[in-house]
Formats: sequence, structure tokens, C-alpha cells
Amino acid sequence: MKDSARAVIIGGGVVGASVLYHLAKIGWRDVLLLEKSELTSGSTWHAAGGMHTFNGEANISRLQKYTIDLYREIEKLSGQSCGLHPNGGLMLAANEGELDSLRLICSRARYLGMETEMVSLAEAHNLNPLIDTSHFIGALWRADGGHCDPSGTTHAYVKAAQQLGASVERFTRVVSLTPRRDGSWDILTDKGAIRAEHVVNCAGLWAREVGHMAGIELPVLAMEHHYLITEDLPELTGRDREIINTTDYSGEIYMRQERRGALIGTYEPHGVVWAPLMTPDDFTMQLLPEDFERLAPYFEVGFRHFPALGRVGIRKAVNGPFTFAPDGNPLVGPVRGVRNYWVACAVMAGFSQGGGIGLVLSRWMAENDPGQDILSMDVARFGAFATPRYTALKVPENYSRRFRLAYPNEELPAARPVRRSPIHERLIAAGAVMGANFGLENALWIAPEGMPPAETPTYRRSEAFPVVRAEAHAVRRSVGLYETTNYGKYEVTGRGARTWLDRVFASRIPKPGRLALAPMLNPAGRIVGDLSIACLAEDRFLIIGSGFAEEFHLRWFWQAEPPADVFVRSAASTLAGLSIAGPRSRETVQRLTRIDLSAEAFRLFQVTETAVGFAPAILTRAGFTGELGYEIWTTPDYFATLYDDLREAGRDFGLVHFGGRALSSLRLEKAYGSFNKDFRPDYTPGETGLDRYIDFTKPDFTGRAAALAERTAGARRRFVVMEVAETQAEVVGFESIMKEGAAVGYVTSGSYGHCVEKSLAAGYVPSALATEGARFEIDILGEMRTATVRLQPLYDPQGLRLRS
Ligand SMILES: Cc1cc2nc3c(=O)[nH]c(=O)nc-3n(C[C@H](O)[C@H](O)[C@H](O)COP(=O)(O)OP(=O)(O)OC[C@H]3O[C@@H](n4cnc5c(N)ncnc54)[C@H](O)[C@@H]3O)c2cc1C
Repeated sequence: MKDSARAVIIGGGVVGASVLYHLAKIGWRDVLLLEKSELTSGSTWHAAGGMHTFNGEANISRLQKYTIDLYREIEKLSGQSCGLHPNGGLMLAANEGELDSLRLICSRARYLGMETEMVSLAEAHNLNPLIDTSHFIGALWRADGGHCDPSGTTHAYVKAAQQLGASVERFTRVVSLTPRRDGSWDILTDKGAIRAEHVVNCAGLWAREVGHMAGIELPVLAMEHHYLITEDLPELTGRDREIINTTDYSGEIYMRQERRGALIGTYEPHGVVWAPLMTPDDFTMQLLPEDFERLAPYFEVGFRHFPALGRVGIRKAVNGPFTFAPDGNPLVGPVRGVRNYWVACAVMAGFSQGGGIGLVLSRWMAENDPGQDILSMDVARFGAFATPRYTALKVPENYSRRFRLAYPNEELPAARPVRRSPIHERLIAAGAVMGANFGLENALWIAPEGMPPAETPTYRRSEAFPVVRAEAHAVRRSVGLYETTNYGKYEVTGRGARTWLDRVFASRIPKPGRLALAPMLNPAGRIVGDLSIACLAEDRFLIIGSGFAEEFHLRWFWQAEPPADVFVRSAASTLAGLSIAGPRSRETVQRLTRIDLSAEAFRLFQVTETAVGFAPAILTRAGFTGELGYEIWTTPDYFATLYDDLREAGRDFGLVHFGGRALSSLRLEKAYGSFNKDFRPDYTPGETGLDRYIDFTKPDFTGRAAALAERTAGARRRFVVMEVAETQAEVVGFESIMKEGAAVGYVTSGSYGHCVEKSLAAGYVPSALATEGARFEIDILGEMRTATVRLQPLYDPQGLRLRS
């Protein structure tokens, strides 16, 4: 065995094999995969091999399509068959909500270049004659997908990688990992030691344990999963083509042809966690005992929906474990604080996702950039809140919902509440309907007295619509209060702070007493953050960003290597905040502070440290509503008092609470984009419009060369807000934006603009088409709607209210 390698990949399942192949393909030939047993011996060998392109997030869908298209390439290179059955897919809806979700998939698929359409039940039956269509009301057909042979596919990756110079050692167990000062690793195996520049955890069922070897706790857990293979079905004899792979959402069943019989699997509601504390070392090429008693009611649904399957015997039953992250998406990327340690685990759909994961991870390792937006599978979307207990509750919830369609207004209940602000109980008492962001509870909307604080999951307007409208109007008319504790907060201090920030951020770094909007770019000139920086003193800064991106930004700061005279720390749990917005906000806050808040004395983007009521606070004149407004930050011990004081101070002006939903409406009326939704690492300063905050006079900052090049060449696309005509439902996100029958972009966010009385959709369109009044079409739940570009914000285009 070699005693050194540029990268060592731990785990020879389908994911490790793909990472090996992609690293070799990108030119890293000195790469070594270590497998403690036979290749595929974890969860890979007994998988059903199903592959599909659909994922609720467009970037992951695209990578799934890449994965499926890749199989022909590795077959050719390796000479090894992947056992492909590219027979496409059918998704069945049994109620209106499911039908809406299929319509949404159709709308999204166009820009992704995926052939998809709604089909009649008669057509569905033609594609799969085993369906009893009386249980369903509609169906979606997609060309991509089918199934493959798990073992053949894994071996094809490995053989293709070996052809490119990569190495594999089977029956070689990694026992420990020890980092060296230079960032490289000593890898101890049962066959000797290896030194490697990089280590990749692709250990599947053992990813948790291989995480422990580097001192990290990954939020990953295995669930038991059953499928059955029936005896031959007479209905299939004489057919010249295989039936189409079918997903039955209401039945929580997937089924496909397996030789002359059928394979049927279920994601039952009360799934069983496997190996909750430690994965057994010797679980190799093994299955688990079947539990028919527990599973019978769920398979019976399948036998009702596909009756022919219940008329024959069961040839084989499989119960095997595989791993999930709390939200069901993979965990990919580098881990903050651990140099050159990469993860590619919690992959629950290895045959749809393995190729894409290998592609982005190999680029990330070689070029320090995944090359595209993969926030939704970045390991950094979880932070300290994702403890083993959290994972133990969230993973079974996710498993039970694998085939339940996620409604855009739905908040999942497991592991809630985890993080609560000091005013949580007060907000609940006021009727707040809560969501969770990075584990922290935050108010989405506030049910008025007499209305239950709950919402029916739907793709259309819910009972919250008129309540959100009232909140938005109250902010524009008088004054509203919104809790901002769930924003990401960081303190950067020290003598070298300004110089370091100047390098990390593309914007001007403000002088003491001022706040600046601050885009952050990666070396390729793409947006990795849209934050604001408040300068409290020459050597003290408060940075505010998106709460969900806290770990992502902390990792970014860590990778930017603050020197010894710069201290960066998260203020997530040490600062809590409130936003007071609306024309009466000045009078409200003025009642609690001695400093002069008049327009001339405390201007937009001014910041100061002062007492607000009883609370020592950081007070900024800023906000996200487009109104006159203030953000007030204090420590958690003063926070409830500050809240009480503000409510009292605003009482005469009719101060109301407003939640995240009203904020989305207010910000889109002002055409403000939001990081995570509208601004992500796929987009550039020119495309987002954030270039206006870039200080090109600075000689050096990350992403400068790329941003300058874009400035010279012009942006290819442009972020726009559109008015959508005659719709009774708002866009959700990722719907295709159509022009003359061709998909030219996709929607990034949407909301009803309650104060401008228009349905609004934000997204990117080619620059040449981004003109005032340009018309596009968006398919919203099966209806083509005209969307008209408005280049000026629909509300207060001159920003007079903001500056008032
Ligand atoms: C019943 C069932 C049906 C499924 N059906 C589908 C399907 O239809 N479609 C689909 O896409 N997915 C399906 N899956 C999921 C699929 O199996 C997984 O997504 C995939 O196997 C994950 O692969 P992996 O490489 O991440 O993990 P694994 O296959 O678990 O591989 C990890 C490897 O790491 C090795 N390893 C661990 N620790 C060490 C160490 N210390 N030293 C050296 N080597 C080590 C292990 O031996 C193992 O081979 C199914 C799973 C089950 C259980």
C-alpha cells in the first residue's frame, strides 16, 4: 500500500467511488480510496437503484440530472455496465395539494431543461398498467430517471477512476486521523499509516464515526428502510417495454419493474432509527430482519393502489439502513476549524446525487470553490444547534415525509423549539405563528385575537393572507415591530480589523458611527454574502447577515485567515434585536433615548451605542421595509425589557407586531433582494445589482478581478421584480420564466405586495430582456400568467420615506 497520497477518500460506496472518479478526472491522479471491506458493502449494495431528477431545490435537481447523464460516460470509460433502465418516471397525485405540487415541478423543469409534463390518468395507466387510477386525480410524467444496478454503477466509477490513475485499497480500515501542523493528515489504517494532504469522509453508514475521528459531530443518522420484490406478474407478460418507475405520494410508495415482477418500497410514517448511538463495525454486506407486522398496513396501501402486486407472492424482502441529514439533503464540503477535512455523506439518494456530489466536491477541493451554488447541500447549513438529539428527532421526521410534498407555508414540528429568544413567550402570547431558522424560533405572522395561530398547508393563499396584509399596511401607515434576533451577527475586533475586513468584503468599510451595505464575493466574483457592517469604533465592528448562513459565513471568515490582531466571533447568542419600522418609528424610539433622532441628527445608516429605555444598546438607522426605521441590538438579559419598553412607547401610535411574511412582502415592494433566496453564489455583483456597493477603488479584495471583468463586459443576467397578472397564488421559487415559449430564467422569490396590491415575482432574466415593461410568462400552478418587469421599486421609488 502507498504511504502517501494527495487525497484519501474513506469509503467505497457509490459516493466515495464518485468522489474518487471526479478527483482523478479533474487531474488529481494521486488519490487513494480506502474501503474497510468490499466495495459497496455499506448501504450501497442493497439499494433499489432508483434514480430521478426531482428535488425541491433547482441546483440539486440540476446535479441529479448530471448524475444520471454521467452513467453513459463512466460505462464507456470503464467498460463496466451500470445496468441502466432509463425508463423515466411517473408521479401520482391523489389530492389537490399534491396536484399543485406536480404543477410546480412542471413549471420548474422547463428552465432546468428537463422533459416533464402533466398527463391524464389514462396516459398514466398506459405507462404503468398496474395502477388503479381510481385512487388518483392527476399525474406527472418525466423523461429522466429510471433505475440502475448499484454494484455495477459503483464499480464503473472505480474502474473509470483507476483508468485515470487513481488507486483503491479494499479491506483496509481507517482507524484514526491525526492532523499535522501544516494541515495534512496522518491516517492510521489496520494495514499501516498514510500521509495525505486531504481527507474525505465518504463513510456512509459510518460517517458519524469517521467524523468523530476528526473531533466533529455530523448531523447524520441511519433509518431502516424496506422494499419488497414480488413474484412474476401475469400483467407484465408479453409487454415489450418495462413499466415506468412510479411514485405514489399519498400512498408513500415507490414501485418499478424488477425482471418480470415488481419492486415496491415504502417510507412509512413511524420509521425506525438504526444504530442510534454507534454503527456496528462488523456490519458488512448485511441486511436487517424484516418487520412485516409493522410495515403491513403501509404495503397494504400499495397493494390497493397497485392491486396486481397483492395477487402474487413476495419473492424477496429487503430491510437495509441508509443515512439522512435532518433535512434530507446531503452534507458536502469543508468543515470549519478542521483544515483539509471534507465530507460527502448523509446521501440518501446516492444513485441520483452521487455524481453531482463528486463533481462539486472535486472542484471545491481543487479550486477552493464548488463552482456553483450548492448552499442546500453544504454541510455549513447546520450549526451547533444540530446536536445528536436534534438529529435524532429531525431525521425520522424527514424520513416519514420523504414522499410528502412540502408546502411552502409549512413549518415542520419535530425538535421545536430548540433556540428561543427571551421574548419567545411574549410573542406566543401575542398570537405569533412561529418558524425556525437555524434552530431559532421566529415569528412568521401574528394571529389576531380570536384566530387560531395555525395555518393550513397550501400552495395558494392561506388564511394568513389578510393578516399579513394588515401587518404590512400598519408598518407603512404607522409603526411595526419585528424581531431580528434570527439574523446572523458577528463581532470583528482588534487593531487589524479594518484592514482584514477591507480584504474580505468588496464594499467600503464604514467609518466609526456609520453602517455600510457590504457584499462579500468568492474569488470567482460570485456573491457569498450580502451583509451590513456597522463600525462602532475604529477597531470594533458589528456585522449583520442572514441567520441561516451563520455557519457558512463563520467558515468563510475562518478561511480568510484573520491575523493575530483580529478577533472574529459569532454574536448569535449574545445579541438580540428588534426592528422598528414605519413613519411613527422615530417618535416611538425617541421616547426611550436621549440622543436626538431627528432626520438631520441621526441619518440613514448611522449607528451609535446608547441606552434605549433600560437597555444598553446598539442603535442603527436601518431596516428592510423601505420605511423610516431602526434596528436595536442588546444583550439577551435586557431584551425582554427593551421589548416591553418599545411596546409601551409605541402604544399611542398603534404599534403592531409584524412577522417574516409581511417583511417579505414589504421588501419585494422595494425590490430588495434577500440572501439565500435571490442572492446566492450563482450570481454576480452586476447581475444582482450589488455592484453599486462595491468599492472598486480598493486595490485588493476577494473577487476583485472577476468583479472588474464583469463590470467591463457587462452582466449577462439581471435581477428584476415583476408584477404578475391575474393570479390567485404567488410564485414559490424556481418556476421558469418564459419568453416566447423558451425558458430564459427562474424565479428566486415571490410574495403578494399588499401595499401596492400586486402579486410580485423576483428572478433573473437575460440583461437584454430586462427592460421596463418587458413581458414574460410564468406557469403558476398550471396557469400561464403574464409577468411584467418593473425596473423601479413599486413602492416609494425615490426612497423618500426611507430617508425621511
Ligand atoms: C433498502 C434501501 C433502498 C435504497 N434505494 C435507493 C434507491 O432506489 N436510489 C437511491 O439513490 N438510493 C437508494 N438507497 C440509498 C443508497 O443506498 C445510499 O444513498 C448510498 O448507498 C449511499 O452511499 P455511500 O457511499 O454514501 O455510503 P455507503 O454505501 O454506506 O458506503 C460507505 C462505505 O464506507 C466504508 N467505510 C466506513 N468506515 C470506514 C473506515 N473506517 N475505513 C474504511 N472504510 C470505511 C464502508 O465499508 C462502506 O462501504 C437505498 C438504501 C436502502 C437501504
